[in-house]
Parts: sequence; structure tokens; C-alpha cells
Amino acid sequence: MIDAAAVVRTLEDVLRGAARPVALHEPVFDGSEWRNVKDCLDTGWVSSAGSYVDRFERDLGEHVDGYAVAVSNGTSALHACLVLAGVEANDEVLVPALTFIATANAVSYCAAVPHFVDSTEATLGMDPGRLSDYLSDIAEVRGTQCRNRKTGRRIKAVIPMHTFGHPVDLDALGEVAARFALVLIEDAAESLGSRYKGRHTGPLGQVGALSFNGNKIITTGGGGALVTRDAGLAARAKHLTTTARIAHRWSFIHDQVGYNYRMPNINAALGCAQLESLPGLLRRKRALAARYAAAFAGAKGARIFAEPAFASSNYWLNVLVLDEQSADQRDEILEATNAGGFHTRPVWTPMHKLPMYAGCPRMELGTVESLERRIVCLPSGPRLAS
Ligand SMILES: *Cc1c(COP(=O)(O)O)cnc(C)c1O
Repeated sequence: MIDAAAVVRTLEDVLRGAARPVALHEPVFDGSEWRNVKDCLDTGWVSSAGSYVDRFERDLGEHVDGYAVAVSNGTSALHACLVLAGVEANDEVLVPALTFIATANAVSYCAAVPHFVDSTEATLGMDPGRLSDYLSDIAEVRGTQCRNRKTGRRIKAVIPMHTFGHPVDLDALGEVAARFALVLIEDAAESLGSRYKGRHTGPLGQVGALSFNGNKIITTGGGGALVTRDAGLAARAKHLTTTARIAHRWSFIHDQVGYNYRMPNINAALGCAQLESLPGLLRRKRALAARYAAAFAGAKGARIFAEPAFASSNYWLNVLVLDEQSADQRDEILEATNAGGFHTRPVWTPMHKLPMYAGCPRMELGTVESLERRIVCLPSGPRLAS
């Protein structure tokens, strides 16, 4: 069985050269960031217009093999995805119980109801087989609408999330979504650079959301994007997130309730530089993951989570997954590693355990509840691999 002292010794070994405290994650700015931001300041184009937003959207779209619309953060991207998917008040939306709060909050912003789904140990994300069985049990499809027979509400969409950058099984989930007439939206906030069967995560459903918060694999300070392979949908996303203003030289005509979710030019300037660094960041991430995997390979009672066979992960955050028998060591491991100058963290509190979501519909969440007790997130900044 693994113990706290052994984990501290292993971190000391893997992170030998790093100054303490070692952060859980930190951004790296060693490309054209300074030059691009200075250019914004020099020209005065820091805000709602300027060339970097267009360039960032073009470069990002090329990168993920789709169209990209830059917005203010990942949460607003998710909200806009749901509005575009046609989610309305009193609909239900299937979301993972094990996720960052934004996935569930975005559903609430639509006055819709999050409906929580269990994870599989294979990906840490939504379990397609169990979701399929569960929906067969509680839902019925009439025409193009899926209805929850227990609550009477429409189930409109499903939002799988690629946990810590590891892709879920999108083909299997896509098949379930199609069978139950659900719109599939990817929460790819953590998975820029991760591929599912060779394809970039994000635009593989109808639409997906990315985040460029300071702790993500690349950052724009704060920022996010919608990504999709549907050019028309991308145009509607741009319109919706820029106050739905009809382009005109001087008049203010807005044709629907839009959102002021645009990304400022100065943030996009950072993003353009960060995107250039992404291939190098991915290499460093994967090198660090390999080092962790090797160092913990002999550990009894714990393993470093590895990408599923169908995926190539960005390894945004490395996690140590404890065996059930070692789960009661988790808090000691968190205490000892933080005391030793290594910022480690548990996984998020599952959504159904938070007060505002405790009453929401959910399937049996045994795997999420087990994973919650067994996950320790490890320092994963790209600099740690150099
Ligand atoms: C970071 C994150 C978001 C939200 O991104 P912000 O840019 O912080 O709003 C959404 N979902 C997941 C899973 C995330 O990790």
C-alpha cells in the first residue's frame, strides 16, 4: 500500500530541479507574448476591435480542424453552446457529476436543469455504456424529442467533458446521443491539443467549448472559444456572443438578446503567441507524464492515470489514482506533499454534493463517488519537464 512519505519521495525525485513551492500549474510565456501585447498597447487596440481576435480565431480553427469563435472565458463559451443547441428553460441537460462547476452552471444560466452522469474508470469521464442503459430505463424518444419519464421534462443535450485532458469515448457517446435525440456538446476546456482517434477534441460534437484561463494548457489571461465544424453555426455563435448586432457603419440594431461575451484584442494577442507554443507545450506535458508514470510504476496501491488507448492526451494535469484499499491515505498524501512544497489537490467535489445541485436528477454515481476519494492531482506545469 502506498503511503504519504513514499509519494513525497517520488515527487522529490521527479521534480528534482524545480524551485519550491511547486505550483499545480503555471503558464509559460517564452514566445511572442511580449511583442504582441506591446503591439496592442502601442496601437491602442486593446478592446473590442483589432486584428488579433480574427487571427486567433483563424489559427485556432486551423488547429482544431474547425471554426473557432473567441469569447471571454470557457464558462461563457459553454453557455453560448447551450443557447445555440436550443436548450430552453426547464429542459434537462446531461452533465458529468465529476467536473468543474462551470459545466453545471452553464446549464443553470439557461434556466435548465443539470442531470448528472457517472464516470468510467477508463477515461474518468462519462460512461457511455451505463448512460445508455440508464436512458433506456428513464427516457423515451418521441419524434425528435427525448423525454424523462420520471420528471416529464425534455432532455435536450449531453455535455461530456475530457477530464484533465483525457478524451472520453466520443464514438460511443455520440451513438447514445443520436439514439436518444440529444445534441452533443463537448466541454473541451481542459483538452486543447488532445486527440480522439486522431481528431482534435472540441468540434467533434455539434459544438464545443475551450478555456484559456491562466491554469489551462494555453492562456489568454482569461478567455475561451466555441469550436465547431459547422460554418453556419460558427457565424451564429459570433453573432450571439457579440451582442447580436447587425453590422452597420453607424446604427445600433440588434436582432435578438445577445451576450457581450467577446474576447478583448489584448487577450487574443496573448492567445496568438500561446498557440504558436502549443506543440512545444504538448511535448513537455507528455514528457512529464512519462516521467511520473515511470516513477510511480512500482508503487503498490496507486497508479498515474494514463490516456485511453483510442486517444492522445495533452496530459494537462497528471493525477495519481489510489486503489480502493489506499483511499484512506489520500488526505495524508495531500497534507504531506503540500507541507513538502508540492501543490497537490483533490479532484472537484462532485456536483450532486453541492447545495445548489443536490436536488437535481442523477443516475447512480458509484464510480464518481469512489474516484472522488482516490484522486490526487500532481504539479503539472510544462516547465517541470524542461
Ligand atoms: C476551466 C474549465 C471550464 C471553464 O473555463 P473558464 O475559462 O474558467 O470559465 C469549464 N469546464 C471545465 C471542465 C474546466 O476545467
